[in-house]
Amino acid sequence: MPTLETILSDITTLTVDAIVNAANSSLMGGGGVDGAIHAAAGSELLNECIKIAHSRRPNEPCSTGDAVITGAGKLPAKYVIHTVGPVWRGGTKGEPELLASCYRKSLLLAQENGIESIAFPNISTGVYGYPKEKAAEIAVNTVRHTLNEAPCVNKVIFVCFDHENFSLYKSKM
Ligand code: ADP
Repeated sequence: MPTLETILSDITTLTVDAIVNAANSSLMGGGGVDGAIHAAAGSELLNECIKIAHSRRPNEPCSTGDAVITGAGKLPAKYVIHTVGPVWRGGTKGEPELLASCYRKSLLLAQENGIESIAFPNISTGVYGYPKEKAAEIAVNTVRHTLNEAPCVNKVIFVCFDHENFSLYKSKM
């Protein structure tokens, strides 16, 4: 059985096969966890993202709910999976399905790449404003439901950066 863990930490410090980035659709980096990941990984990561962006649709290299994978530059992880969470617009614009898709597509990419351990941040709960409790429920349920399609993955870590998310995830484990 795969293990699910919740920790309070900076995701850039983790030695796991893959960390997930809450990216934006440009893949060019941004604030929050995206900024922290690019700052710690260095220019190699940005260059890989630029290459992927150039090979895709110019106005939206990665759609909301989709995910792409790169190496991890100077990070201790081996890969970064960049996924684009939805901006919260009241909950009736497909946000729950799009957020679930981020977790699902990230796990399927992990499976395709032989990734055994993966760490997720609390996607969309920063600048994108997704209510934390609703987001935590989707994260935990989607991961639980998708793991049988990703048998390679034996460890999933939910990495919280604030105490509110940490206690929400703890209560759902
Ligand atoms: P989004 O635009 O998807 O909301 P943010 O980066 O603003 O992305 O926030 C997503 C979550 O990542 C928030 O809960 C935020 O507290 C958290 N976060 C920010 N920096 C880090 C970090 N270094 N490690 C882990 N989580 C982080």
